Amino acid sequence: MNNTKEHIYSILAEVTDPEIPVLTILDLGIVRDLICTQDNEIEIIITPTYSGCPAMDAIAFDIKLKMIEAGFTKVKITYTLSPAWTTDWMTASGKQKLNEYGIAPPINVSSRMNKLLFDEDENIPCPHCGSTHTKLLSEFGSTACKALHQCMDCKEPFDYFKCH
Ligand SMILES: [Zn+2]
Repeated sequence: MNNTKEHIYSILAEVTDPEIPVLTILDLGIVRDLICTQDNEIEIIITPTYSGCPAMDAIAFDIKLKMIEAGFTKVKITYTLSPAWTTDWMTASGKQKLNEYGIAPPINVSSRMNKLLFDEDENIPCPHCGSTHTKLLSEFGSTACKALHQCMDCKEPFDYFKCH
């Protein structure tokens, strides 16, 4: 059974976010559980990153497709909305990949306890040069999940994956 789970996780590691292809669904931390029933049905429980995010349909489709390709034909995908996904669930390697992709990764909600002490928008590190001398251009970047910032040092605009 554990071998099966490990195998399934290795399949899920090939499913990427359609909006951010460098991130797998394991990087995002949206896979909550796997249940293998006795009649070989696999239930995959995922938590949507953003409710109503159209990317979730594409992700569920990709999971099914990858599972079928691997020989698992009885696959059920269940969404669980509680507890709600937060950007804290994203793995450290996921955040690193995001930064290398040119999107500033979310700053942990837990570390934002200091939020009142400074204006967060001024302090998103630039994914290109690392400068914190950045400014918010728009609350909405290439998608509603991101905000558009610009670095004042290297002048590059960049997306910031918003916390929630
Ligand atoms: Zn920069």
